[in-house]
Amino acid sequence: MEKKYYQPEFETMPVEDIKKLQSEKLVKQVKHVYENVEYYRNLMDEKGVKPEDIQSIDDLHKLPFLSKADLRDAYPYGLLAKPLNECVRIHSTSGTTGRRVVAFYTQHDVDLWEDCCARAIVAAGGTKDDVCQVAYGYGLFTGGAGLHGGSHKVGCLTLPMSSGNTERQIQFMTDLNATILCCTPSYAAYIGESLKERGISPKDVPLKAGIFGAEPWTEEMRKGIEEALGIKAYDIYGLTETSGPGVAFECCEQTGMHINEDHFVAEIIDPDTGEVLPEGEKGELVFTSLDKEAFPLLRYRTRDICVLSRKKCSCGRTLIKMAKPMGRTDDMLIIRGVNVFPSQIETVLLNQGYQPNYQIVVDRVNNNDTFDVNVEMTPEMFTDKMSEVLSLERKLADEMKIMLGINPKVHLVAPKSIQRSEGKAVRVVDKRKLI
Ligand code: ADP
Ligand code: ZN
Repeated sequence: MEKKYYQPEFETMPVEDIKKLQSEKLVKQVKHVYENVEYYRNLMDEKGVKPEDIQSIDDLHKLPFLSKADLRDAYPYGLLAKPLNECVRIHSTSGTTGRRVVAFYTQHDVDLWEDCCARAIVAAGGTKDDVCQVAYGYGLFTGGAGLHGGSHKVGCLTLPMSSGNTERQIQFMTDLNATILCCTPSYAAYIGESLKERGISPKDVPLKAGIFGAEPWTEEMRKGIEEALGIKAYDIYGLTETSGPGVAFECCEQTGMHINEDHFVAEIIDPDTGEVLPEGEKGELVFTSLDKEAFPLLRYRTRDICVLSRKKCSCGRTLIKMAKPMGRTDDMLIIRGVNVFPSQIETVLLNQGYQPNYQIVVDRVNNNDTFDVNVEMTPEMFTDKMSEVLSLERKLADEMKIMLGINPKVHLVAPKSIQRSEGKAVRVVDKRKLI
């Protein structure tokens, strides 16, 4: 029989038991960090909190936050909680929003992280009979290593492709019967587009599922990828600071991602005041890692905006769920005073029959923000008749105005003229920051 869970003892643990387990682990973890990480000890001392003040997860709010700025401050060894010679691995963030952050792992840390990824693969229907094509980048980026390790744990036949070389991805996928594809959603969309160009029907592709994450993507993009590849597409979430992908993963219900609560405690806070918000409210996601030895972050502010829900899930997992993050606080553009998330623009484009090939360009001219969206025409709709282009552009700008409340200048550009991404897509060029 197909295995439904990778570690049912944790994935379906009664909620009270999970909370008890979290409390026990937290007490130990706070002690470990206080004793071994001077940087965090100073933060606790400044706040007047001692390890004894933390008796259960109900005391979590007493601890100070850690932010990306702290990680940059403490670069490279300042948050290390184990001697370097007990560490076996280093990874680094992709540097989407500034200087890279490095994270350290003991063998125990790698093991638990790979378990988390294995849970995601099993939740997507993966078994030892699957061929798992890992097309996340290998190297410092956590995507490749995480899913690679998870795939081994499940016993899948692992194809360690790394990202890029799309021709070879397609050849191996079809020749070697890959059934599960792991990569960023933007790369999955690109592979889908490349299949179409080569006249390969989704029916002739052996894939059945995809595990896509590392960047925000919309429901509309999910539908597009599912159709282009003939698969069910699952979301996976994580960040280097908490180990990598697999902090949360989607199950068959696809109404949010289950957070691996036996390893991570999630909180939602008001990003402005730091106040903890009740379940169901939207705010910034904060993680505390309970088991990590080498790089155990307490109350790390992810800057990802989302909502938690403990609604019962039909898959049988009791782990709390997080909604798809709609972007980060620092992804959010403020254009002429209005908050704009790239995901909102993506939603409009896909609803209007465009592909997710776009770039937002913001600039400031004479103290006024300019807001341009370059959008690729699809080959089907391609026209060089000026009047038609103008009317299509106007239609898109109107739809965006309805969604955002402000008017962008839309520029339709020729198919294939916006650079494709093999990793995380670059959706925003904000020239205001360069001034
Ligand atoms: P960087 O901060 O340099 O991008 P990472 O490569 O560790 O560092 O990326 C982690 C970030 O990627 C998360 O904080 C989140 O913003 C984004 N992310 C990861 N997975 C998802 C996902 N499934 N949906 C939306 N955003 C995601
Ligand atoms: Zn579920």
